[in-house]
Amino acid sequence: MTLAVGTNQESLIDESIREKSSQALCTHCGQAMPKSFQTTSVEKFCCAGCEAVWLMLHECGLEKYYAMQTAEGSSPNRPHRNSSQAYLDHAEFQSRHVQTLDDDRLRAELRLDGLKCGACLWLLEALPRLERGLMNSRVDLGRSVIALEWVSAQTSLSKIAQRIAALGYQVRPIGTLASRQEWRRQDRIWLIDIAVAGAISGNVMAIAFALYGAQFSWMDDPTRQFLQWTSVLLAAIAVLWPGRLFLRNAMNAIRARRPHMDLPIALAL
Ligand SMILES: [Zn+2]
Ligand SMILES: [Zn+2]
Repeated sequence: MTLAVGTNQESLIDESIREKSSQALCTHCGQAMPKSFQTTSVEKFCCAGCEAVWLMLHECGLEKYYAMQTAEGSSPNRPHRNSSQAYLDHAEFQSRHVQTLDDDRLRAELRLDGLKCGACLWLLEALPRLERGLMNSRVDLGRSVIALEWVSAQTSLSKIAQRIAALGYQVRPIGTLASRQEWRRQDRIWLIDIAVAGAISGNVMAIAFALYGAQFSWMDDPTRQFLQWTSVLLAAIAVLWPGRLFLRNAMNAIRARRPHMDLPIALAL
């Protein structure tokens, strides 16, 4: 009887193992394999893109990437296909975004999508080992920006971008000049808000000190009341004018029924 149960369980385990191996995972991206794709190598890949990247990383001695991704508890992105990057080589784009360093060395900064962890950063900074003519690649994780330096006689920005896409990341131009100016204008408005809030809180504090001092010396009632109301008024202005950003965001959060960092700030105000 017990023996029968034992063999039964064993066969169940066998079944689940067989199930797993038939749903093998891609060696590169770790996603389930579609039945349609037939790989030529011993390793299993979900698509030709994953296979190409895996081979490329091993040929260039960058296979450490996989161990790093595993250590980060992450997995490589699937390659981005097609998406033409030709616009990166157009004269109009180059005149706006590409800098000439010396002789035929060029430099550009691009916004980078798909960054997940330290392994991504490591791989993208090792990019010069994958792309001939690419001299330097630096990633600014905080701004999600990649700075590239290459020799124009040996490679092009579109080729580098294609390589980045094959690795599962994507580049796009950093905001145009117009949107940069828009940001600068917004920054100025915020700076003024901060200055106003600072000036008001300074005055409210001065009044508070005066009222506190009055506890120990004489102050007539009308003056005391005037100072108290002035400080209430100033505080109200501070909340409504520079504080409007938080209030507005909090209102939007309530309307969208989605929690937002500005909601508790607005409540505190
Ligand atoms: Zn894959
Ligand atoms: Zn990563």
